Amino acid sequence: MPEAALPVVNHYVSGAEFVSTSGRTAPVYDPALGVQTKSVALANAEELEVAIKAAKAAFPAWRDTSLARRQQILFTFRELLSSRREELAAILTEEHGKVLSDAAGEITRGLEVVEFATGFPHLLKGEYSENVSTGVDVYSTRQPLGVVGIISPFNFPAMVPLWFFPIAIAAGNTVVLKPSEKDPSSSNWLAALFTEAGLPDGVLNVVHGDKEAVDGLLTSPDVKSISFVGSTPIAHYVYETATQHGKRVQALGGAKNHMLVLPDADLDLAADAAVNAGFGSAGERCMAISVVVAVDPVADDLIAKITERVAGLVVGDGRRSCDMGPLVTEAHRDKVSSYLDIAVEDGATIAIDGRGIEVDGDAAGFWLGPTLIDNVPTSSRVYTDEIFGPVLSVVRVATYDDGLALINASRYGNGTAIFTNDGGAARRFQNEVEVGMIGINVPIPVPVAYYSFGGFKDSIFGDTKAYGPDGFHFFTRQKAITSRWLDPSHGGINLGFPQN
Ligand code: NAD
Repeated sequence: MPEAALPVVNHYVSGAEFVSTSGRTAPVYDPALGVQTKSVALANAEELEVAIKAAKAAFPAWRDTSLARRQQILFTFRELLSSRREELAAILTEEHGKVLSDAAGEITRGLEVVEFATGFPHLLKGEYSENVSTGVDVYSTRQPLGVVGIISPFNFPAMVPLWFFPIAIAAGNTVVLKPSEKDPSSSNWLAALFTEAGLPDGVLNVVHGDKEAVDGLLTSPDVKSISFVGSTPIAHYVYETATQHGKRVQALGGAKNHMLVLPDADLDLAADAAVNAGFGSAGERCMAISVVVAVDPVADDLIAKITERVAGLVVGDGRRSCDMGPLVTEAHRDKVSSYLDIAVEDGATIAIDGRGIEVDGDAAGFWLGPTLIDNVPTSSRVYTDEIFGPVLSVVRVATYDDGLALINASRYGNGTAIFTNDGGAARRFQNEVEVGMIGINVPIPVPVAYYSFGGFKDSIFGDTKAYGPDGFHFFTRQKAITSRWLDPSHGGINLGFPQN
């Protein structure tokens, strides 16, 4: 179909589609078919301003909407999302490529945050101290910030927006969401569903775009905070720019997650975990395991077990019953597969080569099969770069201490896992490793919704993590009120602090 005849994904502002006239679009592909199926509008500064104005206009009434009413709307949104999750899963598979079961899992993790957010009145409660001085009480409240900006990546087009907007909205803020231009439709679907649940127009707006829209959000005086998730260089840029513009910022970046396998580990469990966490969602997860750190002498046995399991994986169109889908775009697939050449140049061994794999799908799809690279030198870009594809590296080390030192030397600190049957070793690891999310015999330790999500070092900029208690902290600010009600026995002049 000629590009002009393809459907266009437009913005969603004030509870309705907002047709872009910017004249700029980006292609949206069906990665399993390898064809462009839609275009997405790319906002200009004026279009972004319309969305920010809509959010600003909706704020005063929304922040004063009773907690009970806000809670009812959230409950309805939760019910609608739960009952219509298959529709959303189909959109995720069509635009991202992940298999349907994985898309359903993504929605479940997003729903957990909505469920957590429904309990928001408890998290917004302040504190009260009676008689701090005679007849004087002090108490605190947490209030919303105003218009908040959310910028999300391609790899979790539903879950990452759901990490933020239910909490921001529950807390009384209004939102402008800028999703990834690679798989934009799920954000519009979620926003329309929230409208259906009774959310007033303008509380949740979606603006599609690229750097121009992002820069507009980072610099607008009407946007009070930025929640960003994406690659480390962009996260750093977002953090620097938005903080320079006086905003509160949480910017979650990239990752390189290590799995340390000790000699006493259950190697079947470790091999299952390495395959699931290395190749699930084609490795396009910020919590994917990308390096297996094998402590002597486990490497050869572990590689044999991983190879056996990979042989049973079916790669193909996520709408069929496959284990792993394509990569998101052709350019990304080509970039990921170029690391196999780098690996050979740098002296590593390709243990499983995912190029040219047979697929249960269209030959034109953006395929790369599960790939395992052994003896990866830690100086190689295969080790140092975030590859973000189905490429699992093996690094062999002599001792636990060598493995720990390797992990702690990484610039990233998002997730890590240890596989062992030794409780003492696991306890030491959780204490010594410089990483924000740790799994003990669990390969993808994404915290549940009532804890908070975030890493260390170059995996996060800003001191507040996503969702959980940190989420409510981020989207509110505290007021402390000191009050005294007139009592004729108090009065008179006293220039000092009250003493009693
Ligand atoms: P990305 O950094 O390319 O894009 C993220 C967002 O930034 C998108 O909305 C995009 O439109 C925008 N953007 C892209 N280039 C920009 C630029 N030059 N200026 C301003 N904005 C720009 O990331 P991606 O490829 O969409 O997602 C994958 C990355 O996200 C990986 O690095 C992954 O580790 C990371 N990620 C991290 C987490 C986490 O919680 N730490 C979670 C999911 C994904």
